[in-house]
Amino acid sequence: MLTIVGGGLVGLSLALALAPLNIPINIIEKHPEPGADAKVRSIALAHGAMTIYRTLGLEAALMPLVAPIMRVHVSLQKTFAKTYIEASEQGLPALGYVINVAELRRVLWEALLAYPHIELLAPEQVLGLTEQQGGWLLHLQRGTPIATRLVIVADGADSGIAKLLNIRTQTQDYLQYALVANVTTSVKPQGIAYERFSASGPVALLPQVDGTMALVWALAASERADWQQADKATLITKLQTLIPGQVGRIQDISAIMTYPLALRKIDTHTLPHLLFLGNAARTMHPIAAQGFNLAMRDIAHLVDAIASVDSQEQIGKAEWLSQYWKTREKDEDRTLTFTDSLIKIFQKDNYPVTCLRQLGMQTLQLSPTLKRLFGLYTTGNLGRLPKLMRGIQPWNT
Ligand SMILES: Cc1cc2nc3c(=O)[nH]c(=O)nc-3n(C[C@H](O)[C@H](O)[C@H](O)COP(=O)(O)OP(=O)(O)OC[C@H]3O[C@@H](n4cnc5c(N)ncnc54)[C@H](O)[C@@H]3O)c2cc1C
Repeated sequence: MLTIVGGGLVGLSLALALAPLNIPINIIEKHPEPGADAKVRSIALAHGAMTIYRTLGLEAALMPLVAPIMRVHVSLQKTFAKTYIEASEQGLPALGYVINVAELRRVLWEALLAYPHIELLAPEQVLGLTEQQGGWLLHLQRGTPIATRLVIVADGADSGIAKLLNIRTQTQDYLQYALVANVTTSVKPQGIAYERFSASGPVALLPQVDGTMALVWALAASERADWQQADKATLITKLQTLIPGQVGRIQDISAIMTYPLALRKIDTHTLPHLLFLGNAARTMHPIAAQGFNLAMRDIAHLVDAIASVDSQEQIGKAEWLSQYWKTREKDEDRTLTFTDSLIKIFQKDNYPVTCLRQLGMQTLQLSPTLKRLFGLYTTGNLGRLPKLMRGIQPWNT
């Protein structure tokens, strides 16, 4: 028996990826319905994450809901510095796919209902946990305690379970908030995503299936209240100055949501019979769209590890879990460093740094190696690819 605490995108995706292995799984989730923020927010799934869903048989359910990204246009405000990353250069049909978070969660949730050995306990909440021989006892708000061999903690940022276990977290506050909204622009997105580094913070615009663009603007924490209270016209006027000219005029904007931004990583990813995944393990700045994509790579590698055990007794043992995490920590470190470096390089607004930034952008445009690295993060095809990311079903090999 395996228990996943948290039925967010990570918990649900993990359960689906493990489903064909026929191991009984409980998912414990506080909120059966997605929150208001999930309905506004979209996420860019890298090509690698989409390959996992394809291998799991979700292509037909997902394709009508996603907007493919054929090209990413990266630019620096008030300069001519820019670069492009093209799907064709990477030899891929698309660099990634944009999907609304609530829609993705609904597809995953519905797909799980087909598996009788997976139980979705919602609304339900883990209030405490006690270590016991060969596993944990989870204490629930409503139901009777659950004994489990392996707990996968996917309870999101600022994990309540990590706090209960007194696990420390290293945090670097960016003193920024992500302002998220959907905007209607006079030029339709046509498969192009924009990343723009501006003096008012980085801005990303992603194409969406309904023809609008998903906007993520990382603004200074001190400005958050102003923009939360701003009327539509003021907000549109400000955003118009930040976005690239190629998207034309902003004609409309949805309700906005804001999220505090921090680089956060827990000190211990595994305990005997317990593993942290997703936002519970770390959070990062959303500018490079890496948080969920990294978690999807963790999931695919975990499925490989579980599918290849000689006996189910091994699953969750301290050495087995730390062996698994050893194969993953380099990817986590690299991804956190890459995302953090992007923010640091482009955040200051003084002359020498501006020169360097321009140089950096021109180098990116000129150097195939650097551009390839940027492309790898965008597509998510990093390091040794697990079977699900190669289109192979680990339970059939
Ligand atoms: C503005 C923004 C844009 C982003 N864009 C991208 C992107 O384009 N690409 C990308 O890869 N990543 C992106 N990310 C990151 C991505 O959203 C996260 O990595 C991902 O959503 C994390 O999912 P999760 O399941 O770990 O956490 P969550 O979505 O927070 O889920 C945790 C779940 O656990 C439940 N829970 C909590 N405590 C308990 C408990 N005690 N008992 C039971 N249930 C519990 C909660 O109700 C919740 O449903 C973005 C993030 C932000 C903020």
